[in-house]
Amino acid sequence: MGIEPTWPAWKAGTLPLSYTRTEKNSKDWVRVVNAEHEFALSAGKCLAVANGEGVVRFPTPLLRKTGGCALNGAAWCVGSQGMNSLLLTGGRVIDPASNRDEVTDVWVKDGKIAAIGHDAANAAPRDVKRLDVEGQVVCPGLIDIHTHLREPGQSAKETIATGSAAAARGGFTTIVCMPNTSPAIDNSGTVALIHERAASQSSVNILVAGAITKNLAGEELAPIGSLKRAGVVAITDDGHCVQNNEVMRRALEYAKMFDLPLMDHCQDYALVSEGVMHEGYWSIALGLRGWPAAGEEMIVGRNILLAEATGARVHCQHISTAGSVSLLREARKRGIPISGEACPHHFTLTDAAIAGSERFWQADGAGLLTERQGIAMPGWPAYDTNFKMNPPLRSARDREAILEGVVDGTLEIVCSDHAPHCDYEKEVEFDYAPFGITGLETELTLSLMQLYHTKRMDLPALISRFTIHPARLLNLPKGTLEIGAEADITVIDPDREWTLEPGQTASKSRNCPFFGWPLRGKATATIVKGRVVWAEQFAAQPAAMAH
Ligand SMILES: [Zn+2]
Repeated sequence: MGIEPTWPAWKAGTLPLSYTRTEKNSKDWVRVVNAEHEFALSAGKCLAVANGEGVVRFPTPLLRKTGGCALNGAAWCVGSQGMNSLLLTGGRVIDPASNRDEVTDVWVKDGKIAAIGHDAANAAPRDVKRLDVEGQVVCPGLIDIHTHLREPGQSAKETIATGSAAAARGGFTTIVCMPNTSPAIDNSGTVALIHERAASQSSVNILVAGAITKNLAGEELAPIGSLKRAGVVAITDDGHCVQNNEVMRRALEYAKMFDLPLMDHCQDYALVSEGVMHEGYWSIALGLRGWPAAGEEMIVGRNILLAEATGARVHCQHISTAGSVSLLREARKRGIPISGEACPHHFTLTDAAIAGSERFWQADGAGLLTERQGIAMPGWPAYDTNFKMNPPLRSARDREAILEGVVDGTLEIVCSDHAPHCDYEKEVEFDYAPFGITGLETELTLSLMQLYHTKRMDLPALISRFTIHPARLLNLPKGTLEIGAEADITVIDPDREWTLEPGQTASKSRNCPFFGWPLRGKATATIVKGRVVWAEQFAAQPAAMAH
């Protein structure tokens, strides 16, 4: 604190990335730094500006040009100066939307993709900021269409700010938040509230899914037309499921009229009743109430019939059973407008995990992880509530079917179902704990481990599940690196070995079963509209940054 950094150290710490940080010294001024300039601020005024060579200039024209600085007590912000041009060099550029897979450069200008190819470096200005991504993958920004941000109403679990920070760390440039907030997102006012908060507090794009029915109660349709006008990209009662088939039919007719995809959390209430884990061997052995596979398949079947009858697009959320996968596969073959998504926990874990780590590694977990030097195999007790989610972890056969569904495109989208809960809520008996786990920071990694490193899928196919497929479902002009597209980019190191520890998560909650796991593959930089919103160098080198 208060010690001036030497510029070489700065360069080592920040490289050519645009980022800001502050430091307050004893003279009560604040230093705000991004990749190119350092601003010294005091009482709302900018005292000086320095660049990388240590040249000090007095501000105004530069600051005006760059968006200026504001200092209000402890709060501050700095314009996105220097963020309008960036050259990513030497990465393997994979864009499934345009069938591109080659080692080359990408030039980003004014938030858009300006050039790709070996002439990109020539086209870019000589003093352009460079991000050397050799040996890494550069792909369209990842999209997660299923997250719970808990705002408004449950900000002890997560907020738009913390949820978006977790998304950025996970490599996601766009996330879609679910409407089961408090109040529910079933009217245009709440949609506007989220858009407004996202604009000021989120580092990634936040899109909103509106409710199908008022207060997600499954009885009366929400005002779907006004939700559409307010900007929702889909409707869903996620967390709940419309049980009345007539209400569902009307919802689909409205959704079709307004060209909105309808996403459904598939759960037959009567069949599932009070079930807390997959109904099978382990639910009996552990004495927990079962959530039968048919409870999901019944509604998937209903949705197929109604999609066929209405011609409306239905997307089945977090598919967990082998039966659902075969229903969807057969329906899609017949050309019915239906699709499905898979979550990494369903294609990584099984219900045996609820019997504790020892049983899991002996049974369904055998061969899942390769032991790594210095890292113990993860351990957890029986009845650990971080393995409780809805739909629940299923059998090994179901897990295999989900993997096959993602590979053959029956489940064309991978998503997190990021569902944060406070420690005190999860630290209760299994029966009483809320369903759900956080997932934004481990989603890409687990997908790489289970689908790419197992050689089930190549990288372009896997990346399409996070980019062009979700973009198409929601009619978004995203998920591609075409020239002129918004420069939402994710940089991935598919082979990076790492672990996620509870103290490192950006989420406000820690209900994640994958802490301490020997993980492989991760996002190393997340770029939204040409701006680096997160990059590994910063997280990995806190000492170099601290001074
Ligand atoms: Zn759900």
